Amino acid sequence: MKFIDEYRDPKLARSLVAEITATVTRPWVLMEICGGQTHTLMRYGIDELLPPMLELVHGPGCPVCVTPLETVDRAIAIAAIPGLIFVSYGDMLRVPGSTSDLFRVKAEGADIRIAYSPMDAVAIARQNPERQVVFFAVGFETTAPANSMAVWQAARECLKNFSILVSHVLVPPAVRLLLGFPQNRVQGFIAPGHVCAVMGYTEYEDLARDFHVPFVVGGFEPLDLLEAILMLVRQLEQGSAVVENQYVRSVTREGNAAARARMFEVFEIGDRKWRGIGPIAASGYRLRHEYAAFDAERRFPLPIASIDEPAECIAATVLQGLAKPLECPAFGTRCTPQSPLGAPMVSSEGACAAYYNFRRTL
Ligand code: SF4
Repeated sequence: MKFIDEYRDPKLARSLVAEITATVTRPWVLMEICGGQTHTLMRYGIDELLPPMLELVHGPGCPVCVTPLETVDRAIAIAAIPGLIFVSYGDMLRVPGSTSDLFRVKAEGADIRIAYSPMDAVAIARQNPERQVVFFAVGFETTAPANSMAVWQAARECLKNFSILVSHVLVPPAVRLLLGFPQNRVQGFIAPGHVCAVMGYTEYEDLARDFHVPFVVGGFEPLDLLEAILMLVRQLEQGSAVVENQYVRSVTREGNAAARARMFEVFEIGDRKWRGIGPIAASGYRLRHEYAAFDAERRFPLPIASIDEPAECIAATVLQGLAKPLECPAFGTRCTPQSPLGAPMVSSEGACAAYYNFRRTL
């Protein structure tokens, strides 16, 4: 398949692995920040091809996984309002809330629809003027431009029945937090290519300078990740700590200024709670005052209690790169994709789902 096979070429992969092996002289711990990258690494067994001195740990870059329990509970409560249409990306539906999930609420009769774009939700609102339509706007910086576009379009059309439940988080503040932990072991990062396609990578330059840690902006195909790993180990072996861009076919240092302009017309930066990590200052987006009418949290001010995570689930340490899914005692037994205890087991970007699908020993 053109534009895909080139990035999965086994011969090139073998030569990159050989180059990595020849470069590494000491143990290094690397983190791929994005869950999509984790899935590629697991699917293609890339971690198993690397020299034993290189350890890969998995980062918090799974937006579904870090959506707080209270927000999932709020989504479930809103979706259950009679007559309302709740629209969401598919992988949010099985994320467990404190007592239920969106799939269960749908089975009980709620009108919950899966969308591939927030503009689908705007179209549903247009077609159903007598019903309230709420879109579950979950994601990192990557999906924020499209979600802001949906709000902007709804405002332009004066749609009074459309709102979004915002759960947008930002990568750099979370990485800064991880780097500040005394128990942090990560020495180099593969930065998320899709986030940087929007935001550019100047924020990672600040992190590289402040913590003397190298970053390589990486793509999502096997050769992208092998090349990013090679670039990182070259920097580490040389004592360098700068930001390099492996994903040049999609990312520039400045990112997509037009997308950001629309995004910041609708959203502003605010504090956010991360599931498994806790509150992080200035780590998310919220709707600007001018667009408050499109805020589902204001439109449906339902009381939601703050609930503790199931004690058995170690997603907090998995999301911080401090543990691997196989270290969780519930993995594959009491926690499976069919019966998940935590979000990382159901999200298509969750580390536990990656291990379950590609690394499970039966
Ligand atoms: S395997 Fe399940 S219970 Fe364990 S950390 Fe992952 S999501 Fe949580």
